[in-house]
Amino acid sequence: MLQEKGTISINTENIFPIIKKFLYSDHEIFLRELVSNAVDATQKLKRLSSLGHFNKELGNLNIKISVDEKAKTITISDSGIGMTTDEIKKYINQVAFSGATEFMEKFKEANDANEIIGRFGLGFYSSFMVAEKVEIQTLSYQDGAEPARWICDGSTDFEINEGARTERGTDIILYINEDSTEFLEQHRIQSILEKYAKFLPVPVQFGTKTESVPDGEDAEGKTKYKSIEVDNIVNNTNPIWTKAPSDLKDEDYLSFYQELYPFQDEPLFWIHLNVDYPFNLTGVLYFPKLKNDFEVHKNKIKLFSRQVFITDEVKDIVPEFLLLLHGVIDSPDIPLNVSRSFLQSDSNVKKINSYISRKVAEKLAELFKKDRKAYQEKWSDIGIFVKYGALSDEKFYEKAKEFLLLTNTHKEHYTLEEYNTKVKDFQTDKNGQLVYLYTIDAEHQHTYVQAAEKKNYDVLLMNSPIDTHFIHHLEMKLEKTSLKRVDADVLDKLIEKDDTEKHKLTTEETGRLKAVFDKAINNTNMKVEVESLPPEAMPVTITMEEWMRRMKDMSKLGGGMNFYGTMPDTYKVAVNGNHPLIVRILEADETQQAVLAKQAFDLALLAQGMLKGADLTAFCRKGLKVL
Ligand code: ADP
Repeated sequence: MLQEKGTISINTENIFPIIKKFLYSDHEIFLRELVSNAVDATQKLKRLSSLGHFNKELGNLNIKISVDEKAKTITISDSGIGMTTDEIKKYINQVAFSGATEFMEKFKEANDANEIIGRFGLGFYSSFMVAEKVEIQTLSYQDGAEPARWICDGSTDFEINEGARTERGTDIILYINEDSTEFLEQHRIQSILEKYAKFLPVPVQFGTKTESVPDGEDAEGKTKYKSIEVDNIVNNTNPIWTKAPSDLKDEDYLSFYQELYPFQDEPLFWIHLNVDYPFNLTGVLYFPKLKNDFEVHKNKIKLFSRQVFITDEVKDIVPEFLLLLHGVIDSPDIPLNVSRSFLQSDSNVKKINSYISRKVAEKLAELFKKDRKAYQEKWSDIGIFVKYGALSDEKFYEKAKEFLLLTNTHKEHYTLEEYNTKVKDFQTDKNGQLVYLYTIDAEHQHTYVQAAEKKNYDVLLMNSPIDTHFIHHLEMKLEKTSLKRVDADVLDKLIEKDDTEKHKLTTEETGRLKAVFDKAINNTNMKVEVESLPPEAMPVTITMEEWMRRMKDMSKLGGGMNFYGTMPDTYKVAVNGNHPLIVRILEADETQQAVLAKQAFDLALLAQGMLKGADLTAFCRKGLKVL
């Protein structure tokens, strides 16, 4: 009888308490590690078979997980290559333990233990996080191999002797420790498997389930059914990202999306990623229909390594602006035990990041070229990605210029180049500066929009949460172009032209008018100015300077410029020197003047949506009196 006792040669007496302590939060990964090993052993056997090095029956290759609550064990069984005694000594005692030794050495040197633990793969030894004793029963695929058994209680002592397995493959039996009995619960194991093993390439069986199957016909010729117990397979071994895009239909992508995110709206479109050089990466990314609450969309991309789930924290792999995408990424070049600090410094990860960004740009360009109408219909959903991407990634912006759209108040869409051509003749000011006008709400700012359109100006709609930043970005990128909100000043000041007519009031009249309005308004944050506007424009218009409003918007968005957030809102009150009412005010007596000026000012507030509360009530009363 083959029997051996030994001591694993590592320096530290008992490393497991330390491993246990520091890996505490992630104990469940023991199952991922062991099932991954079982998958590897099975894949190796399949390879040997396909290469003709193994000529016996492969048989059922399912990996089986079983829990024995009474015996307090979890068993992971595979029908893979198995191990001989020598291999156990080599792979388990040396390879696996050398991993643990390396861990300890790094751990001793490290300043930040978490950093080490995060990036360290403990593989087989992670089983000691949950088990007080681990047993291996294995039989190698090799001709004449003898079954072997290895057992270790988490100290450095182990025992190898004759095993009990009669069929090729390996059982890993974990004798669950006192602190880890949660893992003896069926649903706990089921949910861990669903998380990590859902798309493993080898069927993973856990427990059974009832299924109803046809069972002949009844007297009337109708099919009868009966319930049978069948193996419960937890995984889909052929997820779509492992297939060639040419073999897939839209339905396949849509049903996979449902599999990943049950009960979600259909995605807008998707991108199938597939590279093998200079790194390996496959995956499918979906563009979801965005609801207003962006947070709910974040962290929906799942990261896999050879179909083993790793994490859904993909912050460092996926460009920030694409974190709202959904789907999966699979790369064997990303280690199983990823940590943030690792990802940030890994050069593959950087390459992956820019690859994804490029792919997304290419896909959008293709959609735009192929069917512009359909693309435009989706623009309100896609726009946020594209704008965000343009803001945060220079290379992406360069590509996005082709398919980045500006939308005007008539819901017409233009590329940057098209829009420039459209407005440059009318909207270039006397200094050669091109001015794009925009509104954040065409309904709300109707008076201003209408005034601009009367002058043959076009008004862009900038109503997405990202537009405040995007506007700024456009100004930096577009040559001699600035963006101004329609209510940032009176039109003639927004786009100054040479031929702008002066109003006909004298300096004395202008001064008097200013005084009348100052008094009627009685608010130092309202700066009255007499302007020359068309007679048919409003008698009084209220505007806020572009830069001032932007600073305030930015500080609202948390742009750090809180100084502006605390500043009072100051406005310009533009009195239209050409309006008949204004001429009348000049001619009226003092009480009349005050009433008319106040009324004209209130109308302007109303048009700007600024007349509220008691002032609005008073205004309505006055209106009624007149009637
Ligand atoms: P890794 O899987 O990263 O190599 P592990 O510590 O998980 O490290 O495993 C060490 C070695 O033990 C594996 O490389 C493999 O040779 C062997 N091994 C582990 N589990 C099995 C198994 N179920 N069947 C066959 N060999 C195994």
